[in-house]
Amino acid sequence: MLKWNVRALAALMLTAMPLLSACGRERSEEGGLAIEAPTASAVPVESEDARPESEPQQEAEARRIDPDAKMIALTFDDGPGAGTRRILNALDEAGGRATFCMVANRLGDYAETARKVAEQGSEIATHTWDHPNLTKLSAERVREELNRSLNAIERATGVRPTVLRPPYGSVNAEVKEACGELGLVIANWNVDPEDWKTRDASGIRRHILDNARDGAIVVCHDLYPETASAMESAIRELSERGYQLVTVSEMLDARANGGTAGKVYYAT
Ligand SMILES: [Zn+2]
Repeated sequence: MLKWNVRALAALMLTAMPLLSACGRERSEEGGLAIEAPTASAVPVESEDARPESEPQQEAEARRIDPDAKMIALTFDDGPGAGTRRILNALDEAGGRATFCMVANRLGDYAETARKVAEQGSEIATHTWDHPNLTKLSAERVREELNRSLNAIERATGVRPTVLRPPYGSVNAEVKEACGELGLVIANWNVDPEDWKTRDASGIRRHILDNARDGAIVVCHDLYPETASAMESAIRELSERGYQLVTVSEMLDARANGGTAGKVYYAT
């Protein structure tokens, strides 16, 4: 029943908002829809066991990234969610890593999954506390959103993010300034299969493989089983094509002197 309702909502959103892009659900705010419902409440949340988790393992071995060999940064917004662990498993099998841009208010339900991301060696970026359009907030509220998310992620995982994926990719001078102060590089993307909209595994996979190129940053969403299915084959295929599957920070380290806090990157 709940699943049907989510589909109905998605269909309604598709009909009402033809011009959305990644994280474009926000624009439906203007239509009065509860656009964060897929993230915050309408998506069934499978509760995670509250048992104490073993400590996140320290990454013992340094990864060797060849800056001259081709690389691609897969990024996953709006989670942690139902697809996160499948994607982590696929990354593990390929010896790859990715960047998970977390909405920090989801950590109450998905703290263990978030720790798994850190253990796997993938990067945790902040996607804010509750996914507002930061450009519509006061400078003070921007700092509150960012600090609250950074503190919550650090508390849950032991890792303090150094990358912001702004909701809807929206940034302005105030957001950049806040990120500069907080030591956050801003990572947007240049490959967008619109997985949240199509929910079509083969189409998502095909878009990624057709548009993959050296230095690309791909945006997807780890909430959806279709995205996880697409990734299970796309990750394998990218690896077979010789791509290093890197985190945003690994890519910036290799190609942009680590990146500059407050600057927006779409690719390298
Ligand atoms: Zn988002």
